[in-house]
Amino acid sequence: MDPYLRMEVKFDRGISLPGCGVWFDAGRKQKFAVVTHAHSDHAAWHSETVLTPATATLMAVRFGKPRGHVHEMAYHQPFHFAAGQITLLPAGHVLGSAMALLETSGERLLYTGDFKLRQSLTAEPAEVVQADTLILETTFGLPRYRMPPAEAVMAEIIAFCEKALLEKHYPVLLAYSLGKAQELSARLAGSGLRVAVHPSIHKMSRIYEAFGVRLTGYELLRADDNNPKVLIYPPNLRSQLAGIPKTRTAIVSGWALDSRARYQFRCDAAFPLSDHADYDELLACVERVQPKRVFTVHGFVEEFAADLRRRGVEAWALGGGNQLELPLVA
Ligand SMILES: [Zn+2]
Repeated sequence: MDPYLRMEVKFDRGISLPGCGVWFDAGRKQKFAVVTHAHSDHAAWHSETVLTPATATLMAVRFGKPRGHVHEMAYHQPFHFAAGQITLLPAGHVLGSAMALLETSGERLLYTGDFKLRQSLTAEPAEVVQADTLILETTFGLPRYRMPPAEAVMAEIIAFCEKALLEKHYPVLLAYSLGKAQELSARLAGSGLRVAVHPSIHKMSRIYEAFGVRLTGYELLRADDNNPKVLIYPPNLRSQLAGIPKTRTAIVSGWALDSRARYQFRCDAAFPLSDHADYDELLACVERVQPKRVFTVHGFVEEFAADLRRRGVEAWALGGGNQLELPLVA
C-alpha cells in the first residue's frame, strides 16, 4: 500500500470513507452521502445528500419526495464540506449519472459509480480525471465482456422486430426502465418502426425530455391499441405481457454476451447493448486516471483486481458482489 495515501476506504452496503465522514451510494440512510445515479441499488435519501439535479428529479419520481438536506450540484461545481470538496463529473451511464471526485488533505479520490465510456445518445459523455485512488465499478471485469458496436447490435434488433411484425407477433424488447429503455427509444427513432413503451418507462422518458434529451417516435402503451408495434418493457414487469397473445421477446443487456442469456432470461433472443463499461473500457479508465491504487466494486471484483496487479497496478477487491444490470425476476 502506498504509504503516502492516508484515505481509508471501506465497503458495507455502499462505500464509506470514515476519515472524511462521507459515503458513496450507501444502501442505508447515512448522515452524509453522495448518490451517483437513480438506480435503486445506488439511490437513497440521506440526512445530507449530494447529487445532480437530474438524479434528484428521477429519484423523487421513483422513490418519493426528497428527505433531509438535498444538495443538487451541477457537474464540475465543487461542494465544500468539513473534510474537503466533492465534484461530480458525468459518468455516461444514465441521465444525470456522476462520478465523484473527492479532494481532501492533498489527496484525490475518484469513485466511478456505474459508468461507461462508449458513446450514448441519452447520457452525458463520461469525463475521467486523474486521481491517486480510484474506486472502479467492475460489473463486466472479465475479458470475455467486450461489447460489439451499438450500431451493429441495433441492426440486429431492428431485423428481429421487423421479422416478428411480419409474422404478426409483437416484438417485445425487455430493457431496464431507467437508461436502457431511453437509449433504445433514441436508437430506434428513424428506423420506421412504431414504438410503444410501458408507463413506468414513459415516466422516465418524460424526465429525460425535460432535461433536454431528444427522444422522438415513442408512444405510451395503451391497453386498447391492437396495432402490432414494438413494445419496450421493463423485465421485472413482463408478467403483464400475459394479456398480449402473440409476442417475441428479447432481452437487451450486456449479459447477452453470455451464451446462456437467452435461456436465463427466458427470451427468444438476447442483444448485448449495455450502460456499463466493458472490459476494455475498464482498462482504459485505469489508464486515464493513472491511480496509485485501485479498489474494485461490483461484479468481478477479485478477477479484475488480480488482472490489474498482473499489469503492475496496485489493486484490491473492495466488495459489492454481483450487480445485475437487469433484475432476474419474472
Ligand atoms: Zn446503474
